[in-house]
Amino acid sequence: MTEHRGALTREGELYPSPRQGLDYLELEPPAPGHAVPLGANLYWARIPLPMELNHINVWLLDDGDGGWLLADTGMAEDVCRDAWITLEQELLEGRPLRRVLVTHDHPDHMGLAGWLGRRHGAPLWMSAIGHSSTLGFLATPGEELHARQLRFVASHGMELSAEGLRRSSGASQHGRWYGDVPPLERAVAGGDRLEGGGRTWDVIETSGHCRGHLCLHDTANRVLISGDQVLPTISPNVSVLASRPDANPLAEFLESLDRLERLCPPETLVLPSHGRPFRGLHRRIEVLRAHHLQQLDALREACREPMSAHSLLPVMYGRPLRGFHRFLAVGETVAHLNHLWHDGAVERRVDAAGQVTFQTSV
Ligand SMILES: [Zn+2]
Repeated sequence: MTEHRGALTREGELYPSPRQGLDYLELEPPAPGHAVPLGANLYWARIPLPMELNHINVWLLDDGDGGWLLADTGMAEDVCRDAWITLEQELLEGRPLRRVLVTHDHPDHMGLAGWLGRRHGAPLWMSAIGHSSTLGFLATPGEELHARQLRFVASHGMELSAEGLRRSSGASQHGRWYGDVPPLERAVAGGDRLEGGGRTWDVIETSGHCRGHLCLHDTANRVLISGDQVLPTISPNVSVLASRPDANPLAEFLESLDRLERLCPPETLVLPSHGRPFRGLHRRIEVLRAHHLQQLDALREACREPMSAHSLLPVMYGRPLRGFHRFLAVGETVAHLNHLWHDGAVERRVDAAGQVTFQTSV
């Protein structure tokens, strides 16, 4: 359950997310273990995931005799390793991965960095904060993380037993999806320039879905590897976590969208981690932004009386949520409420018992 790091709200579940206005590449998604070329030295492969969100896209850049640069890996599960073994035979032609670059620290994106690194002798490149926070997460006992998360949602009005949390989340062993995390060879940060596949990639660092999220922009060819910052059919999860209860990740997420809009032209080909490559970045950013602004408005209206985040779930989602979705939804609702609080639009009160409520400022 602690692997809800990286969980996404999916279309039709938490957030219906209209997809109008996007021009998808007219390509069938590659089958597991196969790859589709997307232009010079750039390949799209899919690694299946054993969960509701059933795949992640990974991107391979061919450096000829120099081997391959890989962006994102899949998680440490056999179904992912099996796809990689096929992919090695089908695409890599005996030339090794030379670098494993990870867009962000969620297990579907980096869980096989250790395994692939050993097979190919490829070091890990990612953001320093993503790497250190993953090591911190893995070093904390699962029971302690559970207890912290239960206390956090309880302070926001959600009663959930440890057993209930475990059951609803499809619990697995703590940290299992991460496999072994290799040392960080290069800390990649916004403003860096990387070479791969005969292209130059400008690193755009974003935040909100997680800290230290890296997008890669091939400015010359107008291609953006967007990670989970911009997805075509899913509104990326933006949550306040128990570890940083006062944070304002939604402000960081919206600021990141603004920056991508400024830096990437509208006709940019977007390569998202989930879903299909598309053009229409600015339209997609507009939909995501409008969606959050709408929810902020609705919450501000609903907080005339002091309200807990849990009691506001119907305002955010408009229908009952079950089990683990409800748990995730509390984190997202707190992200919106904290944004209003940081803006001075609502007041936040914590009573003697630690119960948090929000009320519209007068
Ligand atoms: Zn993801």
